[in-house]
Amino acid sequence: MLGVDNDRRQKLLKTFHPLTAIAVTPQAVKLLLPVVETLTGKLLLSKSLAEELELGKNSLVETYGDSLATAVAERWNNHQAFIFGLATGAVVRLIAPLLQSKQSDPAVLVVDAMGQSVISLLSGHQGGGDRLAQIVAEQLQAKAILTGGANGLGQIAVDCLGIPFGWRKGKGDWTAVSSALAAQKLVGVTQTAGLTLWQNHLPPGHGFTFSGTKETTATLLITVQESNLEKLNKPMAPWHPRLLWIGVGCVRGTDLALLERALLEVLERENLSPLAIAGLASVHLKADEVGMQQFAQKYDLPFFTFPPEQLAAQAVPNPSEVVLQEVGTPSVAEAAALTAAQMYSQGGKLIAEKVIVKQHNQAVTVAIAKGEREYIGKPGQLWLVGTGPGELSQISPAARTAIREADVLIGYGLYLDLIDPLRRPGQICETFPLTQERQRCQRAIELAQWGLTVAVLSSGDCGIYGMAGLVLEELEKLNWDGQTPAVEVFPGISAFQAAAARVGAPLMHDFCAISLSDLLTPKEKILQRLTAAAQADFVTALYNPKSQKRTELIEQAQAIFLQWRSPTTPVALVRSVYRQDETIVRTTLAAMLNFPIDMLTVVLIGNSNTYNYQDYLITPRGYYANA
Ligand code: SAH
Repeated sequence: MLGVDNDRRQKLLKTFHPLTAIAVTPQAVKLLLPVVETLTGKLLLSKSLAEELELGKNSLVETYGDSLATAVAERWNNHQAFIFGLATGAVVRLIAPLLQSKQSDPAVLVVDAMGQSVISLLSGHQGGGDRLAQIVAEQLQAKAILTGGANGLGQIAVDCLGIPFGWRKGKGDWTAVSSALAAQKLVGVTQTAGLTLWQNHLPPGHGFTFSGTKETTATLLITVQESNLEKLNKPMAPWHPRLLWIGVGCVRGTDLALLERALLEVLERENLSPLAIAGLASVHLKADEVGMQQFAQKYDLPFFTFPPEQLAAQAVPNPSEVVLQEVGTPSVAEAAALTAAQMYSQGGKLIAEKVIVKQHNQAVTVAIAKGEREYIGKPGQLWLVGTGPGELSQISPAARTAIREADVLIGYGLYLDLIDPLRRPGQICETFPLTQERQRCQRAIELAQWGLTVAVLSSGDCGIYGMAGLVLEELEKLNWDGQTPAVEVFPGISAFQAAAARVGAPLMHDFCAISLSDLLTPKEKILQRLTAAAQADFVTALYNPKSQKRTELIEQAQAIFLQWRSPTTPVALVRSVYRQDETIVRTTLAAMLNFPIDMLTVVLIGNSNTYNYQDYLITPRGYYANA
């Protein structure tokens, strides 16, 4: 679709949406306005302050009349996060009457007047407050103050562990398990269901043990089973990956009470936790069945229905001729459970065959399939992130936020090392060798399609000889609908910009970039473009100038430029710019090949007017042309 699309901008940093920041002084407004802009939130101000600062019409600003307390109370229940730019004491008094539970309260942060610290005050773990505090601190170049046990120690919080994978927290002694980890005691993990990838990405010094042989203080269970608390002699907390697809059929009008009884009975008989349910499944005809809809709503589950032909194609243990006559498929419950597992859980098998529960003139059939992979239940996101040339200070705040927020980071090992200080403890990081770009990209898409937030990292700008285009092309091959997974590209400072900054202002006039890599581009085309650039007097940046195997193209490039430009044209060879081993050589077109050039170098060739002054390259824009 062509047209104006203002909406797309930074739509994706909405993890904490809705979010409101509150400022009561002009200073706090200055501090928080850019923050809400990046996080797609709103800034709440008193009417008078908004008027004083002429912000009344700003689309990021909302105003309140008399009472800030009322304005906050009105937003409390539907908000993910609040950021207060006022004294902690005032904030505590303001929110105290609103507090309900750590399951439901929004994250609350306090930013001090100087913008030096960001305090994670409330819902630091489950509400994501600690993460948000780090993001905001990143933006303000401030310090995040986290007082929760795990985060303070650079560890993952056990009560946050399963959130990215859509797991649900079961009944257990979460406080005791968290405290054990905070006290650096060992916690034994028994995982019988769900993704185990997290186990390989734990921060050093984590307190989990998987062997079962060591002495432990507490237990973390990851299971679809109902855990029997009485039988355990140490504190236990269970996460339930959502793997169970409940196929249901019923007589029209069967009420919630009977459906619930039937479903819970079958789960109990199989010793399965209702928290491990991925969703309900039935035949299209039942899409408007009120009891089923109510059950799905009560347990916060999706309710998927399928056409009878699709269900009829499933091989099931208990087909029924009567059902076939009535609805056009010999199985509803068993077939729907299996179909949902195939569509949303990468396949699965029946673990509870059809059971019929009747009462008066109502009847329910229930069957359970267990999927191969847990249902995350949220749309995945793909963030294509440029990490700049090297140094952390050269990464945009938005890209930093994306890196910190992503569930998974995927990139070439060197780039991941460079951004190491930005990684969150426990974040899943996957590296691939340089040559496996397509695999890297397919993996990223697979994880995002599943529901994870995946950041694919490229050095420099990810859309300049980086991964962004490759990911989009790959998505197109998969008939991507443009929505799921959602894609956002985060620009970065490309090598040519970084190199230019290091040597002065060589890009002040028209310029171009040419990659000398002939792996994906025919050599003739490269030569043709070199000629065109040389002839048209473009300042030219050469990427991938020379590899161990490919050494002639840089020589040919020089020869071509020498046909059109003076041998004294300034050239800069900038290697590993903004990295520890940065080297810069200022030379000329004639002499450039006398210096080392490799794949970590970008070559800048000036135009016919570029000159050197006091070690600074200048390409005149033309202001002084007639002076
Ligand atoms: N996406 C990257 C480019 C990747 S292509 C960007 O926008 O910068 C790889 C080439 O980029 C290298 O061969 C080199 O020519 C150049 N390059 C990347 N990082 C560089 C750095 N820090 N210093 C100098 N050149 C660099």
